[in-house]
Amino acid sequence: MSFSTLGLSNEIIRAVTELGYTKPTPIQMQAIPVVLSGGDLLAGAQTGTGKTASFTLPLLHRLSSDNSVKTTSNGCSPIRALILTPTRELAAQVSDSVVEYGKYLKLNSMVMYGGVSFSQQKRRLNSRVDILVATPGRLLDHVQQGTVNLSQIEVLVLDEADRMLDMGFIRDIRRIISLLPKQRQNLLFFATFSDKIKDLATGLLNHPKIIEVARRNVTADTVAQKVYKVDRDMKRPLLAQLIRQNNWYQVLVFTRTKYGADRLVKQLGQERIQALAIHGNKSQSARTHALAKFKNGSLQVLVATDIAARGLDISELPHVVNFDLPNVPEDYVHRIGRTGRAGATGEAISLVCVDEYSLLSDIEKLIQKRLPVEVVTGFAANSHTQPEAIPSTSKHQPRTGSNQRPARSPAKPLSKTKAKKSAAPTVAGGKKSGSRSGASRRKALRLSKIDAPQAEGTGNLKTLLP
Ligand code: AMP
Repeated sequence: MSFSTLGLSNEIIRAVTELGYTKPTPIQMQAIPVVLSGGDLLAGAQTGTGKTASFTLPLLHRLSSDNSVKTTSNGCSPIRALILTPTRELAAQVSDSVVEYGKYLKLNSMVMYGGVSFSQQKRRLNSRVDILVATPGRLLDHVQQGTVNLSQIEVLVLDEADRMLDMGFIRDIRRIISLLPKQRQNLLFFATFSDKIKDLATGLLNHPKIIEVARRNVTADTVAQKVYKVDRDMKRPLLAQLIRQNNWYQVLVFTRTKYGADRLVKQLGQERIQALAIHGNKSQSARTHALAKFKNGSLQVLVATDIAARGLDISELPHVVNFDLPNVPEDYVHRIGRTGRAGATGEAISLVCVDEYSLLSDIEKLIQKRLPVEVVTGFAANSHTQPEAIPSTSKHQPRTGSNQRPARSPAKPLSKTKAKKSAAPTVAGGKKSGSRSGASRRKALRLSKIDAPQAEGTGNLKTLLP
């Protein structure tokens, strides 16, 4: 199958051909026809499968081939598609893809996230924006200020929706959805299925096609995984030795906490190993700078909290190190998915101390694989060391609810003109927007046929249904 047999326009095919894409990936083969048909979609696909193009290419095709675009009340062209992502980095990456894939089309896109100038974004919104890629928080800031109008969105994409829910964005997402027109196409992408995703999908999607391209919680065979058991205080010297002895370059290291990431960067610096950290307490310019340096190969080590575990596409990343094991076993799969992409081989090393043995066994249960354990001479773990409790300071502890993003304060009352500008069909009685009742949507989801071909290793999709 080729991109042209999928029915995409010549301009889009030209753009992807220039990027070296010769044929669609499995998620693209399945998702593109669904999106082109205008139907809703619930898609399970991890980053690295080509999922961004699976929704962006048909979205671009649909928007560029429909000339019957209305204007907003103030005579502007409306924003027609909204792509929501959990992190600023993913928003920037998706936006770059929209620009690349759409370079031969007359569509304009914009990326919107926090940590950077609000007023610049406001100015940009005064000119034409067909596709808006945004993180929920900054988008709602614009909604509150009346600087964005979502009343003519035709397509809503929730990318990495499970991550957005884990990060506590559910209220923000529901608020944004309530500002959209009832008639629209909804595309919901998730990497790991959960009850929260099921609830969101049930309320949001209308007769969705359901597709899933890789078995969940599976690690790629192209990633060589290894565990080094080591004492808690020896992790840092061991990491420094591994980097130096093996001449590792482009190493992505995950720590559990922001503080741990900063401390490790400092310690590696003392050993003359060039490292920068990327986490939620860093300014956006520091995050962008560190990631850009790492991506272009001019930074040896990037130390990250789980903010970088999802979504980022760093081509041919050779080494991922879990300096700390993640508290949530699924994050292990996402973290090590940063390497071994697109058939390239990669190495994922976990430095595990006695405190983390139970986390290790949770991960092994999840991936249904025992990880080979090795010992580096001089770094064998002391078998008499007693385990200590891991402080629950992790950003990512969604199951306890402790990390839920606080509810945004209710929108300030808008001035009359602003209110008019941002007016969108709201739904009486707090009901979800959409032409169907909740019960009828639930029924629709239950009854929808799973008719997309399943890729190798696909789980039983019936289990996804309510
Ligand atoms: P994603 O899963 O969207 O993050 O994409 C992962 C990587 O796959 C990106 O670097 C894309 O440029 C690349 N990619 C997407 N679709 C294709 C394709 N059909 N052929 C080759 N590479 C692709």
